[in-house]
Amino acid sequence: MTQSALKPQISMTPESIPFIDLKAQQLHLKDQIDRAIQRVLDHGLYIMGPEVSQLESRLSSYTGARHTITCANGTDALLLVLRARHIGPGDAIFVPSFTFVATAEVVSLVGATPVFVDILPDTFNMCPKSLEQAIAAAKKEGLTPKGVIPVDLFGLPADYTTIHQVAEHHTLWVMADGAQSFGAGYKGTKVGKLANVTTTSFFPAKPLGAYGDGGAIFTDDEELTVLLKSIRVHGQGHDRYHHINIGLNSRLDTFQAAILLQKLSIFDKELEDRQRIACRYNEALEGVVEIPQCYEETQSAWAQYTIKLPTSISREVLIVDLKECGIPTMVYYPIPLHHQPAYTHFPRATGNAPLPISEAMSQRVLSLPMHPYLTSALQDQIIESFLTCLKRA
Ligand SMILES: *Cc1c(COP(=O)(O)O)cnc(C)c1O
Repeated sequence: MTQSALKPQISMTPESIPFIDLKAQQLHLKDQIDRAIQRVLDHGLYIMGPEVSQLESRLSSYTGARHTITCANGTDALLLVLRARHIGPGDAIFVPSFTFVATAEVVSLVGATPVFVDILPDTFNMCPKSLEQAIAAAKKEGLTPKGVIPVDLFGLPADYTTIHQVAEHHTLWVMADGAQSFGAGYKGTKVGKLANVTTTSFFPAKPLGAYGDGGAIFTDDEELTVLLKSIRVHGQGHDRYHHINIGLNSRLDTFQAAILLQKLSIFDKELEDRQRIACRYNEALEGVVEIPQCYEETQSAWAQYTIKLPTSISREVLIVDLKECGIPTMVYYPIPLHHQPAYTHFPRATGNAPLPISEAMSQRVLSLPMHPYLTSALQDQIIESFLTCLKRA
């Protein structure tokens, strides 16, 4: 008998609750997905097969964007747009510090300078006031401000109304990083239509996830679309061996497109379920911890359910305790980007001073299991364990 089997306290706890249950979704769609994969095997058009353009037109109808350009992943989606906009050395691109690294990474990859902007404490999204400061800071460093990349963190759209006002005042373009917010919306307008260009990711754990990597760009801009389609395939011109741009290879796999088409057919139902699960968490946790803020007329895609713990709580102790109860949690994100070793030398809105909200939030956030297949019984168990463990932390 193993050591752990002797510990009654552990053997009595649930086996393991998944943080995101992709298996449950797969079972639900099994026949549809099997048939879709078989169709690709039958036609054999593995690269840019018919499913890719089918998916692009479905995604355009879904978001309302005139054009959808699929690509290899959500990071490339951002990169392709920066390449199409000829962003390079000397250019400043404004990104939040509290996000996944990809948002800033692509800026440095094209040789431009990411300038870190602080976030709002209630929504975790880019702070327009901090953006103003960052623009001034970039100019002081001799950089040319070119664009802003707000992120819809955890699925909630950023404050595009105010960010657009700031951007217009300084003649900057706005590219929405909607990697976490596909399906979300504001006043009835879907993500994909809230900015001139929006990117998303189909990484398996994102709201609309593939069975591998994938990404897309949404825009109404015809000229940009033509350029992006060329850059996506080695800068292709009138045929495969004619190159008019310096591009890369960033196509979406036909298999992934076929799988995404099936998943898209049940996506709205999944969004409703995520919303319902978020509401149940809110009801149980309100007043105990700071629950996610939802603005009126803003619909989150609930990629994550992220709370703010009271500062008196030891997050480390709580996480370990919850884990022993079989409850997985995640910290998105433990280190803001301006403190990441590879990014400390880039400018920030506050000069050398801290970005206080990003730093404070990275210490206090905790994400709980969130996916459309979380049953009420399991969720109740998570909530009960959470409330018990919180008292001990
Ligand atoms: C996931 C993510 C990306 C990158 O997407 P990939 O498909 O993994 O390359 C970019 N930005 C944000 C905010 C993300 O969460």
